[in-house]
Amino acid sequence: MKKLLLCVIIVLFCALTACSNFSNQQRSRQINEWLESDRIKVLTTTCFVRDLVENIGGDRVSVIEMIPMTSDPHSYQPTKVDLELLDNASYVIVQGLGLEHKTFNDALLSQTKKPCVLQEYLMENCPGKLIKHEDTGQYDPHIWMDLNLWSECGRGVLQYLETVDPENRDYYKKRAHHYFKSLDSLDMQILEQYAIIPDHLKYLVSAHDAFGYYTKRYFRNGKDRDQHRNISIWGLSPEASLSVKDLDFVLSLIKKYKIKVVFTERNLSFRALQRLKEVEPNIQICLEPLYSDNFSLEVDDVEELLKYNTRVITENIKEKGENS
Ligand SMILES: [Zn+2]
Repeated sequence: MKKLLLCVIIVLFCALTACSNFSNQQRSRQINEWLESDRIKVLTTTCFVRDLVENIGGDRVSVIEMIPMTSDPHSYQPTKVDLELLDNASYVIVQGLGLEHKTFNDALLSQTKKPCVLQEYLMENCPGKLIKHEDTGQYDPHIWMDLNLWSECGRGVLQYLETVDPENRDYYKKRAHHYFKSLDSLDMQILEQYAIIPDHLKYLVSAHDAFGYYTKRYFRNGKDRDQHRNISIWGLSPEASLSVKDLDFVLSLIKKYKIKVVFTERNLSFRALQRLKEVEPNIQICLEPLYSDNFSLEVDDVEELLKYNTRVITENIKEKGENS
């Protein structure tokens, strides 16, 4: 077991080192290119929203995220560089739903840049698709994990770009139409991939609660809405501390549903999963970390993130399930 834990440490250390190298080498180049661009400058809070704007805005806009794509969006706070980005931005797009740090959004939204807040668009247009945790009153902010919902966010971005730059309305519409078709097609593919996997294998245990939308969309077959298909050791934010009660609850679900494998996430410490393995030695830790709140050099858009996660999850739940 110690050998396996050491392997996990090495794999995750390499993944995290690759992330930080990317961040150091590429971030300042990314910022300089954006500052020097003569296109409409759009500033987004996250890399996910940046991806939406790139796909819809095409070569009419230059877009950059404020929270570097390898940083934790839950805890990131504005820096001096961010204020410079804000000063130079023509338009600002914020995700909301509690993803970005409150002080961060307060600072952004107090500016006079006509900010777009995707949360407001979603609450007005498709509130039923959002997950709200009734016990805490918090919304689940990991909306890029459901491609159907992510298309709705794209509609919010399209509406915003059409408003602030009406001259290019047709261009944005055409690109958005093409992009939404691509998201729909991948959404269908993923639904089909999970449709042939037996329901008793479709459980996802991970470190933090980033996969609620994913499992709601792709694991559930409409008959078992109340079951815990998504099980996390921490809550919505990886900043939270781990309690014995939380761990006991996760262990009870693992036993109840006969879960064989738990998943690591690229941007997170795996201490919690390590602890789980100490208590429940039969559980296997997947050595390919899932993407939750970040992109990387290899996976740098939402479609690639969903393809990667779906491959890793389906391969592991099938293999471990068949071997049990
Ligand atoms: Zn998260």
